[in-house]
Amino acid sequence: MSTLDSSLSLLDKWPQWKRLTAMPDQVARLEQRLAAIEAKFGPAIGDTCPKCRQSAFQLVGSKKDPVFGDMGVSLRQYRCSSCGFEEDKQVH
Ligand SMILES: [Zn+2]
Repeated sequence: MSTLDSSLSLLDKWPQWKRLTAMPDQVARLEQRLAAIEAKFGPAIGDTCPKCRQSAFQLVGSKKDPVFGDMGVSLRQYRCSSCGFEEDKQVH
């Protein structure tokens, strides 16, 4: 590889290095934004609620499926602590 070639390949890598050196700043900014979001909406404790889209959709219980329970199917009960939306999910 000639000197010119290796110089050019170094130049190619320069944007990657610039991105790498900028990463700690970006992570710090993301942490600040996440802290601001959590301060507003509370900690991200559950899945996203299908109704209100908040991260407050949590597993609250489990029961035998009324129809398929004898075949080993159970229902997991989820409830959103933000809007109260409830949903059962079948688990096999
Ligand atoms: Zn909700």
